[in-house]
Amino acid sequence: MDVQFLDSAVPSGAAFSGEPARHLLRPLKNPVFWLRNGWIPMYKPADHDLPNNAHPSHSATTGGAAGLNETPRGERLHIAVFGRRNAGKSSLINAIANQEVSIVSSTPGTTTDPVYKTMEILPIGPVVLVDTAGLDDEGILGGERVRRSLDVLDKTDLALLAVDTPEGWGSPEDKIVSLLQERRLPLVVALNKVDVLSPDTVARIRTAAANRFPPTVPVIPASARTKAGIEALKSAIIEAASPDREEPTLIGDLVQAGDTVILVAPIDRSAPKSRLILPQVQVIRDLLDHHAQALTIQSEELPAALASLRNPPRMVITDSQAFKTVNTLTPAEITLTSFSILFARYKGDLCELAAGAKAIERLRRGDHILIAEACTHHRTDDDIGKVKIPSWLEQKVGGKLSYTWVSGGTLPADLSEFQLVVHCGACMLNRRQMLARLHRITSAGVPVVNYGVGIAYLHGILPRTLSPFPDALRVIRSRQQCGLQPAQPEDTLAPGQF
Ligand code: SF4
Repeated sequence: MDVQFLDSAVPSGAAFSGEPARHLLRPLKNPVFWLRNGWIPMYKPADHDLPNNAHPSHSATTGGAAGLNETPRGERLHIAVFGRRNAGKSSLINAIANQEVSIVSSTPGTTTDPVYKTMEILPIGPVVLVDTAGLDDEGILGGERVRRSLDVLDKTDLALLAVDTPEGWGSPEDKIVSLLQERRLPLVVALNKVDVLSPDTVARIRTAAANRFPPTVPVIPASARTKAGIEALKSAIIEAASPDREEPTLIGDLVQAGDTVILVAPIDRSAPKSRLILPQVQVIRDLLDHHAQALTIQSEELPAALASLRNPPRMVITDSQAFKTVNTLTPAEITLTSFSILFARYKGDLCELAAGAKAIERLRRGDHILIAEACTHHRTDDDIGKVKIPSWLEQKVGGKLSYTWVSGGTLPADLSEFQLVVHCGACMLNRRQMLARLHRITSAGVPVVNYGVGIAYLHGILPRTLSPFPDALRVIRSRQQCGLQPAQPEDTLAPGQF
């Protein structure tokens, strides 16, 4: 096989990203493996719209693709730094990280696409620091850069606003604060460059800035250049990150210490060589955390595995693609669900996704389906998103449907043309990002399922696979929404409708 190396030889985040990368890669017909070190530009292949045959290298430094020894990006707290051009965002990130991880220049607009740096901030743990382009950028390209910076809001868990203190506060700061408040995101304000101001001026500006916010928003004078105030800034970030930090469990609340859980992990052509996929690894880790045992097998071994156990397993969790076989092989009294359904709850809103399954019943020939995957991956000729799900949907509908497929970080601007969105398990997204996507889809009035929920429905086993999740089960058996009072009798759908 001929191998071609494209050595971009530019600092990460500076040039080989966005349109230049697409321009260079578009003519290539062969698969493209992207090997790079350090910072991840927003247009890295795993996230966005490089050709579908461009695979992320999954090296340990990519973060986005989760190296074997790294906490996956989707599990990290995302701290995004916003501010106008030349407010010192990159310098602040370097000062917080205590290393030169971002390009610093006095030329405004050096950071073009958002760039990502994975690191540990104790005691928060693994985080991603996101450096964004200036919010006051101008022109057509500048406007596009601002749009990409604002897209970062959907994955932001905590925002750091870098203020160019000598320049003062203006409409870019007002705009981002208002967007952060709409989303109720925790905020820390860094009054940067205070080393060039007198202490009296700094005190006056700090009081004026603090008066804009409730007392819960820390306003910290700092200088990335002299490092003054950086420790206070880190402390403020740690405090702002800690109180509301969601720690949802993947499976821990469904098992007890000593339970055995059988995991069915098919090793077929779509399985990566020599390793398990991220959802399987994360479930095993969560079972270990809760002192439960994982017995990992392929579907053919399920009868023997069940027979080998002195007591029945607490549950069987399968790859959704093997639902049909595993459902047949698993006795009715044993709970059965899938990795994708666990992720529907962990990363998103299982009730919303379960409610979306009802829309499959209403699909008609010719309807338009959006199949959305959050990252690109190697496709086989019986790919789950391209082949299997469309085939199962068309069997259900009894005719052809039309499809749009998207891979990466963005959904189509107009979602209203779709009758259904089928989303992947979102293992690479953080929870906030997946919730933002679900919100966008449902706000457009479009129902949404994820792969696990959709496949379970199409195989007629959704109630069985949702049995560990009573709220979601109630949703599919009634017209009620999650969290509402129990359904009234007239709201209840006929048994067997699902
Ligand atoms: S489930 Fe989605 S996010 Fe996870 S690897 Fe597959 S396409 Fe990527």
